[in-house]
Amino acid sequence: MSTTQTSKIEIIKAPTSKINEVDFENLSFGSVFTDHLFECDFKNGEWQKPVIKPYAPFLLDPSTRVFHYGQAIFEGMKAYKDDNNDIWLFRPDENYKRFNTSAVRMAMPEVPEEVFMNGLNQLLQLDEAWVKKGKGNSMYIRPFMIATGTGVIANPSDDYKFMIILSPVSAYYSGDVKVLIAEHFSRAANGGIGAAKAAGNYAAQFYPTNLANKEGFQQVIWTDDATHTKLEEAGTMNVFFRINDTLLTAPVSERILDGVTRKTLIDLAKSEGINVDVRPVLVSELVEASKNGTLKEIFGAGTAAVVSPISGFSYQDVYYELPKLENPIALQLKDKLTNIQNKLAEDTFGWTVKV
Ligand SMILES: *Cc1c(COP(=O)(O)O)cnc(C)c1O
Repeated sequence: MSTTQTSKIEIIKAPTSKINEVDFENLSFGSVFTDHLFECDFKNGEWQKPVIKPYAPFLLDPSTRVFHYGQAIFEGMKAYKDDNNDIWLFRPDENYKRFNTSAVRMAMPEVPEEVFMNGLNQLLQLDEAWVKKGKGNSMYIRPFMIATGTGVIANPSDDYKFMIILSPVSAYYSGDVKVLIAEHFSRAANGGIGAAKAAGNYAAQFYPTNLANKEGFQQVIWTDDATHTKLEEAGTMNVFFRINDTLLTAPVSERILDGVTRKTLIDLAKSEGINVDVRPVLVSELVEASKNGTLKEIFGAGTAAVVSPISGFSYQDVYYELPKLENPIALQLKDKLTNIQNKLAEDTFGWTVKV
């Protein structure tokens, strides 16, 4: 793979900025984008010259492969601005590695590290005014890749487009989240694409989630496809359970996405002296723990919401309410993590990387 072609990014600046049109106090998640985007095409078996250019729609042929066969992957990461106006990424190497793991699974070309990292860094520098300081504020970063080859033949595409777009976000409050434990539907199966951040995983979740919404539940807790007895993920987040004072979470597998927030929370909890047990968690033990009062908390973990506390769950038409705690571990960990991310607390783990 040639690296000389991709080393220098062409920059085409937007003639004017849209930043003054944006109400940063009332951002709805993922709906506002900055002035520029990063783009690098894969053609003739190699990555082409990368470019940063004004954020704008682009044209694609109706037979473009991504529309028909769903070769599409993405990442979700964040950047933060500290009090000195320095911008920091959180464990970006983890997202980079996972992006290429997803690419391999979807028969797409791997993106060279310099394309991903230089593109990301230069784009953030150019649109740095859009990264706001203060706890809860961050820049949500969406790298993605789509198959751009044409023709409705069911083969992997020859051509691809890698892009990075940026969306300023503020603290994300999920509200009261009640979840339904899946007894029939599955998010992923052994041998499938559950461990890849593939667009199709999300499309497949929408219908069962809509059904759960109609019953008054905001999210579905996915169980293993073979037996529906093991608790795996909550919506598009990894999931933790607190029984007594131990945190439980399933090991990552072919069916469970290797979340950066998940592994970060495991390390953070351990460093706080909290017991963390990474092992398969059964629906039956959750029900049992709820009945005998040892189930204290359930929370989702992911980049967008960081930690999303769950207030109760339904299983086999019975609703189990969780206790309302004074000082839940979920919020303690969220506070610790967001302080590290926003550079308000010392990062003893070396997770933050300066742009
Ligand atoms: C992205 C994602 C997560 C969370 O991963 P983070 O790296 O923590 O953002 C969890 N589960 C699924 C299915 C995901 O797509």
